[in-house]
Amino acid sequence: MSAYAIAIHGGAGAMPRATLSGAREQCYRGGLEAALDGGYEVLARGGTSLDAVSTAVRILEDDPSFNAGRGAALTRDGAAELDAAIMEGRQMRAGAIASVRHVKNPVDLARRVMEKSRHVLLVGSGAEEFALEEGFTLVPNHYFRTAERLEQLEHEQRGERVSDLVPPPSHGTVGAVARDAAGDLAAATSTGGLTNKRPGRVGDSPIIGAGTYARNGVAAVSATGHGEYFIRAVAAHHVCAAVEFRGLTLAQAVRELLHQVLPALGGDGGLIAVGANGEIVMDFSTEGMFRGARDSTGRREVAIY
Ligand code: ASP
Repeated sequence: MSAYAIAIHGGAGAMPRATLSGAREQCYRGGLEAALDGGYEVLARGGTSLDAVSTAVRILEDDPSFNAGRGAALTRDGAAELDAAIMEGRQMRAGAIASVRHVKNPVDLARRVMEKSRHVLLVGSGAEEFALEEGFTLVPNHYFRTAERLEQLEHEQRGERVSDLVPPPSHGTVGAVARDAAGDLAAATSTGGLTNKRPGRVGDSPIIGAGTYARNGVAAVSATGHGEYFIRAVAAHHVCAAVEFRGLTLAQAVRELLHQVLPALGGDGGLIAVGANGEIVMDFSTEGMFRGARDSTGRREVAIY
């Protein structure tokens, strides 16, 4: 078993293999590797799982290829509205923010909510007021908006449908899970949500137990996919409860969630998890999931399909 381990995702989605050009694939792989190695370095230096997942998610938020932070999917009125959460497994503390429009790195604000407020989830203007009080620099909403996301929004609006999963050229949501050398688990997730969503819509990512969850001795989980289904299934908690109370292996619990529970509701997506001993599970019911895993046994991989 590995002493420490990290896994990341950059969203599960519907980009058919044939449509992904070599250059674009390299771009996604480069982004995933940077986040994976950034998070791993924290663990290798003896840092905490909380710092590792924050670092990895922050790198993905800053990368415009992924649907979080800069490059986030846009609401139907063309704005970016961001959701994020973080949780640590030792004391099961959690922090989350939803529907913020001006916070450059939502994962950092989620962590600040966890560490500096009496609350777990802050939304909208209240979350941004807290950010200002805490000395965060706010950015104009157009910082997040990229030409590709605008094009994607126009495409969605012409077809008058909200994507089930964010289609090319976007890929939904980023997340990380880690176990550090002390055995502490942590999970973080950050997203712009679904393209063409209603303003005010909140997905699963910032809902503790749905898109993000961590419990020492059990697992840390970060999900991606059509959030409404993950909320209804309480997906991340379902996986942990199946391991803790029904004795399933982590891989079995993830498989049950993605290939039985969610499909029964009509939902799909993907999930990454790290278990009590550093075992990593990455699974999805979509065509692909941008993902990576690295641990202290020497495993290092990045994959899309
Ligand atoms: N789960 C995210 C949401 O529903 C979107 C995604 O993962 O692509 O907000």
